Amino acid sequence: MSLSEVDDEGVTLTDGTRIATNTVVWSAGVVPSPLMASLGLPTQRGRVEVGPDLAVRGAPHVWALGDAAAVPDLAVAGRGAGAGRRPFTPPTAQHAQRQGPVAAANVTASLGIGAGRTYRHRDLGLVADLGGWDAVARPLGVPLTGPVAKAVARGYHLLALPSLSARVRVATNWLYASVLPTRVARLDLVRRGDALIARAQGIEDAGGPPA
Ligand SMILES: Cc1cc2nc3c(=O)[nH]c(=O)nc-3n(C[C@H](O)[C@H](O)[C@H](O)COP(=O)(O)OP(=O)(O)OC[C@H]3O[C@@H](n4cnc5c(N)ncnc54)[C@H](O)[C@@H]3O)c2cc1C
Repeated sequence: MSLSEVDDEGVTLTDGTRIATNTVVWSAGVVPSPLMASLGLPTQRGRVEVGPDLAVRGAPHVWALGDAAAVPDLAVAGRGAGAGRRPFTPPTAQHAQRQGPVAAANVTASLGIGAGRTYRHRDLGLVADLGGWDAVARPLGVPLTGPVAKAVARGYHLLALPSLSARVRVATNWLYASVLPTRVARLDLVRRGDALIARAQGIEDAGGPPA
């Protein structure tokens, strides 16, 4: 069941049920691109099925990774996946990014350069920055909340940035944001035509006077 309509006084579900409310909280899920299901390749919940080497089953010289692929989670399998845990890596940037070098190594190995690899990750925990001084973290299985979790979450995010200059810029921005009032953006200065997706894609000349 999903929402078919939201208005000022409530929501309507797809079966016609009406729920009166003034508050609607929306959260986005992640679904694989519908392209995957149309390729004629084996899929798991819309993701192309691959082996631990990211090679698509039954399709020589084809690899898949990231959100598009159902990659066996060897770390979970090692702990006994049966207990309600899905044996595939979840669709997150953490996995997509780490699967990239593995896929690249296996493509080059198939061309006779270097050795092939399997994708295996070590789960060091999770961090989630919730805004303000709120955060949750579970580094190495230790549950944390509040400012301590915030420090861990921000420390991890800084480490994940790809260069020193990016880290300095982001850290400086956080420092400013902690002592200065919130910045205000004037969106009405953007010309209405420039804000169209069609304009960004270059398929329509959407010029016009400022809104
Ligand atoms: C709202 C939201 C919040 C998220 N938050 C987090 C988070 O906090 N932490 C985290 O780890 N992950 C998060 N994720 C998940 C993360 O964004 C994805 O797991 C990650 O981006 C997957 O990377 P990918 O390279 O597999 O796919 P993508 O990043 O989706 O890249 C696929 C690319 O292929 C392009 N493409 C699609 N179809 C075609 C086509 N037919 N031809 C050419 N190009 C095409 C797309 O435009 C896109 O650029 C979030 C996702 C969402 C939606």
